[in-house]
Amino acid sequence: SAKEAGKGGYRFFDAHLSDQLVRRLNWQKELKHAIEHEELLLHYQPRVDAVTGEITSLEALVRWKHPEHGMVPPDAFISVAEETGLIVPLGEQVIHQACRQLAQWRRDGIPLVPVAVNVSARQINGGSVSSTVHYCMKAYAIEPALLEIEITESETVAGSKIAAEEIAALQRMELSLYVDDFGTGYSSLSQLQHLDMQGLKVDRAFTSQLAKPSGVELFRAIVSMAHAIDMLVVAEGVETVEQLHTLQALGCNEIQGYFISKPVPPDNAAALIQRKKLFPAIRP
Ligand code: C2E
Ligand code: MG
Ligand code: MG
Ligand code: MG
Repeated sequence: SAKEAGKGGYRFFDAHLSDQLVRRLNWQKELKHAIEHEELLLHYQPRVDAVTGEITSLEALVRWKHPEHGMVPPDAFISVAEETGLIVPLGEQVIHQACRQLAQWRRDGIPLVPVAVNVSARQINGGSVSSTVHYCMKAYAIEPALLEIEITESETVAGSKIAAEEIAALQRMELSLYVDDFGTGYSSLSQLQHLDMQGLKVDRAFTSQLAKPSGVELFRAIVSMAHAIDMLVVAEGVETVEQLHTLQALGCNEIQGYFISKPVPPDNAAALIQRKKLFPAIRP
């Protein structure tokens, strides 16, 4: 009967819900454990000058080396971390590891390039990113030119007083700041101008459209807008030589993507730095 079905439906719904809840709590517990036991590690993906092919920075991308599930990508756990507040200790650990890695490379005599750390909107709204960065730079003797921060474009950052203060504090420390995944969020041109960051990382959704004339024109507009307010433009997700050539013609400043290199473990990243140029210059 309908009554039974209704009841059954509710029971089913409850069971389903608590199932999800249990799964989430398990993830939360495991992630907490992972943070405490340093199961999180960083891979590094180079960013290069679009004209010379020289490495301009290495982006630190977190991985979870899970004892059973193997290497877990960030998309699988960053959102859980954000919803549970674990993003704050996770973010602290990422900043620590990035600085520790730079100090290690320096000891090993490897020529240093800046490391770019990703920071999510919720994390920056937590209000402690700048103090963690400040602490780690001191602890590992890292100068500001060696650290960059990528902040995902989002409404949360645009409207938040805490985020604005955090961004200002990082700027006073003379770190370079980049808007990450530009074009997928909500920043208006005036917000961008006020935030006064060094560059835009244009989301790979735009790079992937460069084979079409409309895709080229859209990218051209982004480049000219960014340059008008003195921001550098980095293209994300460059996978082909054709995309590279189009971006060079558009005056895009830097590129990043599988065409240059996938994110790699620290030792491979050190080898990349020592190669210095990751593709030959096409123009002097
Ligand atoms: P993101 O910062 O935009 O990083 C770029 C993502 O695109 C990386 O995925 C990278 O591996 C991937 N990628 C790079 N080049 C290409 C390409 O040519 N083609 C394709 N298809 N993909 C490419 P990953 O490492 O899985 O990271 C995903 C996202 O997780 C990052 O996006 C970032 O938003 C977030 N994330 C990573 N590490 C951290 C972290 O330490 N803290 C925070 N808050 N977020 C992080
Ligand atoms: Mg990023
Ligand atoms: Mg990005
Ligand atoms: Mg992206």
